[in-house]
Amino acid sequence: MINLETPKKHRQLVGQAHQVAMNMLRPNSRKYDLAEHEYPVELDMLAAMIDGLAESGASEGAGATGVRRSEGGQDEGVKNGANLASVLSIQEMCWGDVGLTLSMPRQGLGNSAIASVANDEQLERFKSVWAGMAITEPGCGSDSANIQTTAVLDGDEYVINGEKIYVTAGGRCDAVVVWATLDKSLGRAAIKSFVVQKGTPGMTVERLEHKLGIKASDTATIIFDNCRVPKENLLGSPDIDTKQGFAGAMATFDNTRPLVAAMACGVARASLDLTRELLKDAGVEVDYDRPAQVQSAAAATFLQLEADWEAAHLLTMQAAWLADNRKANSLEASMAKAKAGRTASDVTLRCVELAGTVGYSEQDLLEKWARDSKILDIFEGTQQIQLLIIARRILGKTSADLK
Ligand SMILES: Cc1cc2nc3c(=O)[nH]c(=O)nc-3n(C[C@H](O)[C@H](O)[C@H](O)COP(=O)(O)OP(=O)(O)OC[C@H]3O[C@@H](n4cnc5c(N)ncnc54)[C@H](O)[C@@H]3O)c2cc1C
Repeated sequence: MINLETPKKHRQLVGQAHQVAMNMLRPNSRKYDLAEHEYPVELDMLAAMIDGLAESGASEGAGATGVRRSEGGQDEGVKNGANLASVLSIQEMCWGDVGLTLSMPRQGLGNSAIASVANDEQLERFKSVWAGMAITEPGCGSDSANIQTTAVLDGDEYVINGEKIYVTAGGRCDAVVVWATLDKSLGRAAIKSFVVQKGTPGMTVERLEHKLGIKASDTATIIFDNCRVPKENLLGSPDIDTKQGFAGAMATFDNTRPLVAAMACGVARASLDLTRELLKDAGVEVDYDRPAQVQSAAAATFLQLEADWEAAHLLTMQAAWLADNRKANSLEASMAKAKAGRTASDVTLRCVELAGTVGYSEQDLLEKWARDSKILDIFEGTQQIQLLIIARRILGKTSADLK
């Protein structure tokens, strides 16, 4: 039976992630918000700690990386595994800072892609690589089936040509997971992902973007000009199965969307926690045991935000729990991402409003969190795209039926 309380076995991990967020990420939050594109050196020590935990086997799901579906069959009984551990720890880290969490070495969204679709040999080969994820192109964002970047087999190598934009950690990571088509005429089934190591001739980081929020995280444009990668770097199977369509590549999103939802829950939680303190200082006590309508307008608004947060958090837990228990979670991953992405934007902005001038001022972090949260409703599929996917799945429509 599903139980969406934080499992006992993960409470220590949650506590540790919270300590890291409070003592390492928060104190550096404003510094790297102001110093856009500067590398947060403080994260190297943190990465070394996580590597140490991984080697000792004590870090199931520590950090931001996605994880492989749990091995083993249904007869193992209910499992609270690495997917749940990941969303819980990433939520805590993003309570500290979203941009810094996205900049954690070896914890990129590309690592989730590798975990989702790599075979065992590739998983081992790329285990210590920090991987960004490159799907978006100048002419294709939400419509990821329209990818124009090509990969052509030439002997034992694929030759990649194309332009990728808005690659998170693209300037800093060791490798990028690039989505490219093997044959445009075969449509979405021909889209495969390739691991391209930095320094490969023909791969150039062209520029870094200036952004509204998550300024600690670098966002790069990368050009591939006759960039040759070993054919073994194609993740999963090279076969083009037109019946399976886009399913192989899209499996990545079942892993990454709950993670982004967890990031959204983390930054929203940070805003709520600080706002509750500020309200208290201003003489407004939020009473969770009394009906909202008998409390002040500020307290009633706050309770509504808390309820939204709880719904987002539970949907996120559900999506991860389903993955841990080897159940299909595409619908639930989109529901979690849609609810949590929107909730983070709403909650952080309402908290700015509730805190008045303090909310808008740089003396505290509420204004920063309102800027940081917006991306969580955009990348890995926008709000509108998640709602489209949910509608298709509930109504049993294909992407051709409902666009
Ligand atoms: C800071 C940042 C980091 C990013 N990191 C990465 C990364 O690491 N890797 C990567 O590959 N990409 C990344 N992206 C890109 C991101 O995933 C895309 O911006 C996103 O998928 C939307 O694509 P688009 O910008 O082309 O917008 P479009 O697809 O052009 O959409 C524009 C608007 O139209 C809406 N829309 C589009 N189609 C429909 C439809 N059918 N129905 C209703 N509404 C629709 C969208 O919801 C959106 O509001 C990042 C973006 C940002 C800003």
